[in-house]
Amino acid sequence: MTIYTKLPLGARVAATPERVAEKVSGGAKSGTSLDTLALAGSNTKNRPNLLEKRARAKYLSRTLAASLARLESPLEKSYWNTWHCASVIEQEGGKLTSRYCSNRWCLVCSRIRTARAINAYHPVIESWESPHFVTLTLRTVTAGELSERIEVMLKAIAAIARSMRTTHRLSLRALRKLEVTSRPGGLYHPHFHLIVESREQAELLYDLWLAWHPELASREGQDVRPCNDRSLVELAKYLTKVVAKTEEGKRIIPVVELDTIFQALKGRKTLRPMGFKLSKEVEESIEGEKIEVEASDAVKRVEETVYWEWIQEMTDWVDRETGECLTGYQPGERFVAFVEGVEEGSGAIESKGESAITAEIQPVISAMSNG
Ligand SMILES: [Zn+2]
Repeated sequence: MTIYTKLPLGARVAATPERVAEKVSGGAKSGTSLDTLALAGSNTKNRPNLLEKRARAKYLSRTLAASLARLESPLEKSYWNTWHCASVIEQEGGKLTSRYCSNRWCLVCSRIRTARAINAYHPVIESWESPHFVTLTLRTVTAGELSERIEVMLKAIAAIARSMRTTHRLSLRALRKLEVTSRPGGLYHPHFHLIVESREQAELLYDLWLAWHPELASREGQDVRPCNDRSLVELAKYLTKVVAKTEEGKRIIPVVELDTIFQALKGRKTLRPMGFKLSKEVEESIEGEKIEVEASDAVKRVEETVYWEWIQEMTDWVDRETGECLTGYQPGERFVAFVEGVEEGSGAIESKGESAITAEIQPVISAMSNG
């Protein structure tokens, strides 16, 4: 495996004027991409375009993948696949193509899946009369109990849906998401978020969840509320929180805990429709093992064939022949410090710069749509 600790001098020097030019022009590129058109003339300073967002995701994702791979877990090989995800972007015939790892923890691939999920489910949920957001939890578990607990929860929600239909004559129609977060003291918190078609269904689901788990579910642990504009995005975004907050208020990436979570979720679909179906192809494109990614439009030198190669130190894909950068993405100082902290194994930054978190880290870990 090649690790670019040292850049050919030409690349670094040549890339600099290009970057300066892009900074001056506010990141706008020549070319015909939708992002460029949408952003032309507006203040683009704080609104990275699609390729810049992909670069930002790649920057953190590669470091995260390396940290996970070093744990020597059963997923090691898959973590290295993520390290290589979109390492080269091939430009030919005005199109950009790349090979993606399709792994769920990959921040580059998550963004693609999340955007697709939102596009696919939004029209369905919009057609529902009074969609409600439901959170269902049970008591936390240890790492050793996590996999079995997830199994129990998946069986319970299926059994409750059956009971609603047969005993209560009220079929459940919902979009169900399984999430797992880590808690201090080596504990894990698997839980469901659901967008349910109606209030009536949501309340019955809530009651039955409590009745099903008299020992493990508390009233305070569950929640039902009407959906708002953000509900679907909240539901579709990343399946666990990559960045956790310690008791001292530091932001860290709990790598060991994440590995435990990813192992427990292996082979399990986390986002599922209940009581309705998408077409097989659409569902596969969201939750399938392999995600097919369509080519996107070239943004510069559109007539040429170019191999843009990811160089971590440049936080960009670079044409080694000319030293030109593809996206012009420039991470903020605090984000760089954060990513380098992950690299060194601490994965921690002080919490003082809340704005740095919201501006750069949050969009990456939330794997938001629109890009
Ligand atoms: Zn990937």
